[in-house]
Amino acid sequence: MVNQSADLKDDMNKVITKPAINQSKEELLKENHLLRDQLHVFLERAHQNQKIMSRHQSLDLKLIGSSSFRELIVNIFTTLAATSELDFVTLTLVDFKNSLREVLVDLKLDLSEFPNLMLISNIRELGALEKEYSKPLLGAYKEKFHASFFSACQKKPGSIAIIPLVRHGKLIGCLNLGSVDPMRFNPVMATDFIENLASIIAICLENVINSERLTYIGLTDALTNVSNRRFVEQRMLEEIGRARRQQYDIACLYLDIDFFKRINDQYGHQSGDDVLKEVATRIKAELRLSDTLGRFGGEEFVVLLVNANLHDALQVAERIRLSIVSKPFKLSMAGVCNTSISIGISTLTEANNQGDITNAAHELLWRADRALYDAKEQGRNRVCHCEQKTST
Ligand code: GH3
Ligand code: MG
Ligand code: MG
Repeated sequence: MVNQSADLKDDMNKVITKPAINQSKEELLKENHLLRDQLHVFLERAHQNQKIMSRHQSLDLKLIGSSSFRELIVNIFTTLAATSELDFVTLTLVDFKNSLREVLVDLKLDLSEFPNLMLISNIRELGALEKEYSKPLLGAYKEKFHASFFSACQKKPGSIAIIPLVRHGKLIGCLNLGSVDPMRFNPVMATDFIENLASIIAICLENVINSERLTYIGLTDALTNVSNRRFVEQRMLEEIGRARRQQYDIACLYLDIDFFKRINDQYGHQSGDDVLKEVATRIKAELRLSDTLGRFGGEEFVVLLVNANLHDALQVAERIRLSIVSKPFKLSMAGVCNTSISIGISTLTEANNQGDITNAAHELLWRADRALYDAKEQGRNRVCHCEQKTST
């Protein structure tokens, strides 16, 4: 990413001088030596340029080959930084209504892992770029204008390049490069190389974001917007594996709204849907980001609590039960209704987390369902648990 073409032309002009007819043999030999030395320098430089080109070609291929948002971000922050010998690489993405953030969080991408990724909901945060984004901004780092692009970096760059990312004529964010060298990026240098890189990154971002959104849609319940059964079952296998490796307990809650059929019968199906949505919201409000909530079908939900023992699970379940029973539900057609929920709990302790993971997941879910049955049997609006058989 250095503009060497002007230097190279100067050098070439210096070397290619017409030989004078009256030069002596010694002078010609001397000049030949000089030309050979300089040719050697040019070949060396051409060789280096070739190496840089092929490094960048493999960077392009790596970016294009990224199959998930996470993989692309990692490639931008690590491979691009290494390939282009940059001290700072950050990425700002416009995320109106936080919709991308929501999808990524729901798909369990831990955004705190990427402090150099900034999702902004207001395009004004891009400063001057908001109005003029046809060209990258290059030059010395100025705290007043550029601090927000490098806010997570401990040291500050000497020079920077803020490159707009544009798709279909719209600004989707910017790629922010920095160097400790104050001369690395300057307003007169050629920018075609970084513009080309930014185009590739913008296309790759659009591609992986669309694919994450599709995954999200396929794993989300359309009515309540929480995960669907497929996602929870998939997650359960991953979480049991992780709990085993990191040696902690997990718990499963099986929740079922009490006498839900009566709500449909009494207030209509639309009101039933309102209650389902609000129940999902109230359950979610009692959980941590690392927990998983899914609608398992009808008026049944499943929650997976990570790093939680029976005591923790009982507390969470009790909070959920109270949040449902203690406040009426507003109905969109008019009026309110009350309901309650029954909850079955099962746990998988670290000591018992052994054997086939699929079997362990089935057994965990089966015991939670069994405990839910007990809760219904004992009069509803309550929490029951089903112990696991201790392994010998
Ligand atoms: P229990 O306390 O034993 O769980 O009784 P219940 O009435 O909640 O259970 P039951 O299985 O008899 O009825 C569940 C009802 O949930 C029947 C079905 O019509 C309704 N239902 C399932 N899915 C939806 C939905 O998406 N929207 C609405 N409004 N109702 C639904
Ligand atoms: Mg049911
Ligand atoms: Mg029910």
